[in-house]
Amino acid sequence: YFITLEGVEGSGKSTQVRLIKEYLEGLGYKVLTTFEPGDTEVGKEIRRILLSPDNTELVSRAELLLYVAERAQHVFELVKPSLAKGKIVISDRYTDATLAYQGYARGLNQKLIEELNVIATEGLEPDLTLLLDIDPQISLQRAKQVTAQNHYKGDRIEAEKISFHQRVREGYLDLANKKERIELIDAKQSIEDIFNSIKIILQKRLIR
Ligand code: C5P
Repeated sequence: YFITLEGVEGSGKSTQVRLIKEYLEGLGYKVLTTFEPGDTEVGKEIRRILLSPDNTELVSRAELLLYVAERAQHVFELVKPSLAKGKIVISDRYTDATLAYQGYARGLNQKLIEELNVIATEGLEPDLTLLLDIDPQISLQRAKQVTAQNHYKGDRIEAEKISFHQRVREGYLDLANKKERIELIDAKQSIEDIFNSIKIILQKRLIR
């Protein structure tokens, strides 16, 4: 069973990934948690190129292909082998992120991105996608606080204008309307309430 989490920056995905893992392990499932971009050795190098604030000259098409390349490595090295071992795989970001960021927000062709996603994943789709929806005005504020606490200057994407992040959000909402596997969750709620909403979905869709 393959679960992905999606949402704008600061929507709380990584916290929920951790809580879902603990919950499912408590129920006796074997779980692998992972993320994109950067959870393989090759992926780490690609992530550095993608997120370095110094790479201001990176063009959208190059960015798209780097995300897709990173995904191909991630699926081959981590996602597929773990699913084959019978684990539940939970990934923080996957194919929908590319549609939302490089498609809706950067304006690249959706059909082209869908095709590239199929090439990267050999057609592996999530069974369930949890979309943590929140106004980026609120979530970026959160993300920036964490960034500042870590004395880190923020990544190339965080530096984008708020309108960019609004387009990402709208893109995700549009995808949620179109795809049955995507469940919409209100990420303005507290961590605990978000997790309770997720538990209800898991009980309905995963735990039989
Ligand atoms: O925080 P996280 O590890 O998810 O960071 C990934 C970064 O890559 C974020 O800044 C996110 O906005 C960006 N991203 C992107 N296009 C994607 C996936 C992620 O710009 N397809």
